[in-house]
Amino acid sequence: MRISVAIDGPAGAGKSTIAKIIAKKLNLMYINTGAMYRAVTLEAIKSDISFKDIDKLSSLIDKMEMHFERDNLILNGIDIQEELSSLQVSSNVSNYAQVPEVREKLVYLQQKMSKKFDVIMDGRDIGTVVLKDSPYKFFLTASSEERARRRHEELISKGMKVEFDEILEDMKKRDFIDTHRETDPLRKADDAIEIDTTGLDIDGVVNKILEYIK
Ligand code: C5P
Repeated sequence: MRISVAIDGPAGAGKSTIAKIIAKKLNLMYINTGAMYRAVTLEAIKSDISFKDIDKLSSLIDKMEMHFERDNLILNGIDIQEELSSLQVSSNVSNYAQVPEVREKLVYLQQKMSKKFDVIMDGRDIGTVVLKDSPYKFFLTASSEERARRRHEELISKGMKVEFDEILEDMKKRDFIDTHRETDPLRKADDAIEIDTTGLDIDGVVNKILEYIK
């Protein structure tokens, strides 16, 4: 039996930071499913494909070979992780991610990875859909101001010029679309453990999760 750990929650709740640390500690492969939705969005924007053009989107995804190396997304042999955090991708990704055909294809790829490797995955529908049989499910939350502050710091440290208010607005908009879409909306799985990370440091959250897994 493969080991799988599911981490869900809204943007900026600390999912990827926490998942990367736990992946190292437990020797799991970290799969950042948000990066996959972002990659589809980036490629669609480059090819001028609207999220409403289902046929073109489907054939675009069929030509995308995605896997992860050292926590980064490799698309058709190229590490595109840096490009995925742009505000243009962030402000469009939820529109592409609500398309059922897009979700179906990416969920299939994610489930294939979880059969091949021991994984920790973060996203919005991991505990409810992708790894719904996993015994280890966590749902991370934090106040929207705290989440925007963290994302703002992260982007500034990468050298990007972004305003706090712009990040907060983008996050609120994405959270709304992610929780209200028809297909696999963001919600806590009934059997997931909820952790509010507001005011908690990274080690505190990591240790909490490790205690449950042990
Ligand atoms: O995790 P991240 O914030 O990078 O995800 C970007 C967007 O991708 C989310 O706002 C959501 O619209 C979409 N997403 C999703 N399902 C996932 C992961 C991400 O719909 N499992």
